[in-house]
Amino acid sequence: MADDLHFKTLTELQSLLSSGDMSSVELTQALINRKEAVDPQVQAFNSLNTEGALAEAEAADQRRAAGEIKGPLDGIPIGLKDVISVKDRPLTCSSKMLEDFVSPYDATSTAKLKHAGAVLFGRLNMDEFAMGSSTENSAFKTTFNPWDLERVAGGSSGGSAAAVSAGSVPVSLGSDTGGSIRQPASFCGVVGMKPTYGRVSRFGLVAYASSLDQIGPFGRSVKDVASVLQAIAGHDPKDSTSIEQDVPDYSAAVASSKGPWKLGVPKEYFGEGLDPEVKESVQKAIDWYADQGCEIQEVSMPNMNLAVATYYIIATAEASSNLARFDGVRYTHRSKEIENAIDLYFKSRAEGFGDEVKLRIILGTYVLSSGYYDAYYLRAQKVRTLIRQDFMKAYEQVDALLTPTSPFVSFKAGEKNEDPLAMYLSDIYTISANLAGIPGLSLPCGLNSEGLPIGLQILGKPFGEADLLAIGNAYEEAHDHSNQHPKL
Ligand code: GLN
Repeated sequence: MADDLHFKTLTELQSLLSSGDMSSVELTQALINRKEAVDPQVQAFNSLNTEGALAEAEAADQRRAAGEIKGPLDGIPIGLKDVISVKDRPLTCSSKMLEDFVSPYDATSTAKLKHAGAVLFGRLNMDEFAMGSSTENSAFKTTFNPWDLERVAGGSSGGSAAAVSAGSVPVSLGSDTGGSIRQPASFCGVVGMKPTYGRVSRFGLVAYASSLDQIGPFGRSVKDVASVLQAIAGHDPKDSTSIEQDVPDYSAAVASSKGPWKLGVPKEYFGEGLDPEVKESVQKAIDWYADQGCEIQEVSMPNMNLAVATYYIIATAEASSNLARFDGVRYTHRSKEIENAIDLYFKSRAEGFGDEVKLRIILGTYVLSSGYYDAYYLRAQKVRTLIRQDFMKAYEQVDALLTPTSPFVSFKAGEKNEDPLAMYLSDIYTISANLAGIPGLSLPCGLNSEGLPIGLQILGKPFGEADLLAIGNAYEEAHDHSNQHPKL
C-alpha cells in the first residue's frame, strides 16, 4: 500500500482512511519516511515535529474509530509555510531575526485546520519574510525544485510547493503577496491558489505587506485545493480586513459547475519576455477551453506594464513599517555587541536581517519619506486603483481571465540572484492580482522540452473562487498533467 502513497491526492487519501485501508498514523509515518528520503536533496522543511504529528494522527484515528470524524481534512497531514503561527512551535520566517522565536498563539488558519482535524506536518522554507521569488533569500537554505535539483522551487513559498511536489505532504499552506503561491506552484507542477483579499484571515500571518498578503492552499489537484480553502476561509473578528461574506461550498461548486464560461485573454500577458514554450502551452490550454464551447475574448489591461513598479513601491513601504517591530528589544535576535540603546537597534537589525530584506526596508522608508511620499507612494496608490479598474472592466465582459502564471519555467539556482530586476520580473503576471485584491489559481498545463512544469493562471472576480476552481477542475479532469510527478 505504502509504495506510491506519497503521490496520492487528498481525495484518494480520504477514501483510504474512510475505508479503513489505512490509518492516519500509517499515512503520517509513511510521509515522515518520504520526507527523510527526499528532503536532504529538496530542502523544503525548516522543521518537522515527528512526535507531535504522530500524536495528532493517533488522536485522529481514535476519533475515526469512535465515529467522530471532523470533516474531509481529519487525519490528513498538512505543511505550513514558516510564516504562519502555530502555538508553542517555532516561527522563523526563514530569518535569523526569528531563529529562536516560539509562537505564543495560533494563526486563525492554524486554529481552523486544528478544528478540522488536520495533522500539522512541519514548517516549510521560504524567502526571508516572504521577500523573493526563488527561496534563495532564506537565511537557512535554498529549496530545490523536485523536477530538477539544480533549479529553484520558486518563491517565496518555495518550501510549500516543493514539499507537495516531492510527495512529502499532500497539501500545504503558503502566503501570496505578489505571486508567492502561484509562481512556486507553477515551477513545481502543483496547484496553488491565492484567494480574494479578505477571504482568509491574516491573523497570525507575519505581515510583509498587509494590504496585499493573503494565505492560500497548495495541493496535487484543484479539488484538494478546494477542500483546504473550505477549511480556512471565512470572516474573523481578529482580522478587520477579513470580509463578512458567506463561504460557498467549494467542492460542490467544483462538482456541479461545468461551464461553458466566457473567458478573457489579456493581450498584455502574451508579449515580450514570455518564453515561447510557456506561450505555446498556455495557448493550447486556451484552445482546449474554446473547443469545449467557452467563448474566448481578447481583452486589454492597459496599466499592466505599471504593475511591477507599483508593487515595489507599495509592498516595500508597508514592509518598512511592518518590519520596524523587529528591533532586538523583546523577542527577536539581539546583538551581543551592545554598548548603548542605538547599538541595540542598529546591530540587532544589521545582524538579524538578510540583504534583500534590508534593501526593501531602505526602499520602503525612502518612498514614504517627506518630499517623496507624493511622488512615489501616493502615485503608486493611484495606479493601483487603475489596475483594479482594468480588471473590473474586463469582468464586465468575461467570467475569468486565462494567462501564463510566470513568463518562464524554473531557473537554475544562482542564475538570477545577482540581478534583482530580473528576479522581480518573475512575478510580472501574478502581481496585479494582489494589487487588485482578486483571486488567482495556478495549475499545471504541461512540461517544456526539458521536462519542466508550466503553469496556467486563472484570474477571477472578487470572491469568485468557486468559479476559478470549477474552471480549473474542468481542464484538469480532461488532462493528465496533475498525474505527472518528478522522478525522485
Ligand atoms: N516575489 C515577490 C516579492 O519578492 C512576491 C513575494 C510574495 O508574494 N510574498 O515580493
